[in-house]
Amino acid sequence: METVSKRELLSLELFELEEWLLSAGEAKYRAKQLFPQLHKGLSPDEMTNLGKRLQQKLRDAFVWHLPAVERKLVSKIDGTVKYLFSLADGNCVESVVMRYEHGNTICISSQVGCRMGCKFCASTIGGRVRDLSSGELLGQVIAAQKDLGERISNIVMMGIGEPLDNYDNVLKFLRLVNCEDGINIGYRHISLSTCGLVDKIERLMEENLPITLSISLHAPDDETRSAIMPINKKYGVDALLDACRAYFAKTGRRISFEYTLIAGKNDSAENALKLARVLNAKLRSRTETMPIHVNLIPVNEVSETEFKRSSKDAVLKFAKVLESKGIRATVRRKLGSDINASCGQLRREKILSEPSF
Ligand code: SAH
Repeated sequence: METVSKRELLSLELFELEEWLLSAGEAKYRAKQLFPQLHKGLSPDEMTNLGKRLQQKLRDAFVWHLPAVERKLVSKIDGTVKYLFSLADGNCVESVVMRYEHGNTICISSQVGCRMGCKFCASTIGGRVRDLSSGELLGQVIAAQKDLGERISNIVMMGIGEPLDNYDNVLKFLRLVNCEDGINIGYRHISLSTCGLVDKIERLMEENLPITLSISLHAPDDETRSAIMPINKKYGVDALLDACRAYFAKTGRRISFEYTLIAGKNDSAENALKLARVLNAKLRSRTETMPIHVNLIPVNEVSETEFKRSSKDAVLKFAKVLESKGIRATVRRKLGSDINASCGQLRREKILSEPSF
């Protein structure tokens, strides 16, 4: 018997739902009943206002699965919530909700694992298992909102995975989460972080979405960067900063730079000076002044790697050098330090605790 794989209900945009309803002999307006309820986390079986016949058609045509809370850790210090979500096939990803005065921000994962190979990162250790679908990307936001009983108003794509390595699903997710009939989070409230896939950054700028782009730079020159981030061998610092400049010129959206400080690798005053020089040279000229902001993040020590955090002194000195060259730098406040809130580590713990066959 031939089995046709069913489509995933949560991955459907409103217009796709409308098209399906029409093809299934149902009224188009039903989409506007279905879509908001789906995005609140209800399964079609729970939507009694649809009627039994439509519920059955939905069951026949689609799979519906919301990421399930496998583990949940709540920080006693600042209320940060970390979820380990399990997906329909048993794979797990992590999401973190951070509580700020201006609202809740969720950090979501974009892939199961990652193939970018950054040396300091826990998410990449087992490689990439698979991409997340747009419904699974969205599902993390829905499931967290449902569990918390609170609105999430901001999204950062800084969890497990490289979002631009899962380009089409991520773009569809952005449209889904932005849709006013669903969760309705504005593009300006969404940040996407990348290790620097230049070809995809160039593609993204053509979409002209007012999201915030965040670049994981972590080093000021090719030698230092290639030693910790293999992607740099394909797209070097110059090419990456050229893409950033073009992105800003096209979209007018500021770009923020992430810089993880690792003791003895990239945290010297000389590294800071080089960073300031290269950012100023590549992104600022007489005619254009791109606002530059660098987030300094003392590396989270991962048990499988030998990298150590920079000392407080080294971090402050690094920030001072940048500021002295006109570059705004902030040291990232560490949220959820009691629950190991940085991504990748909870999933690793789970994998390591399971018997391997
Ligand atoms: N792949 C994307 C997004 C995921 S990682 C990217 O590279 O941007 C989110 C951020 O956490 C990145 O800036 C990444 O470099 C950083 N990061 C990864 N492991 C870390 C660690 N052990 N300590 C501090 N930051 C880390």
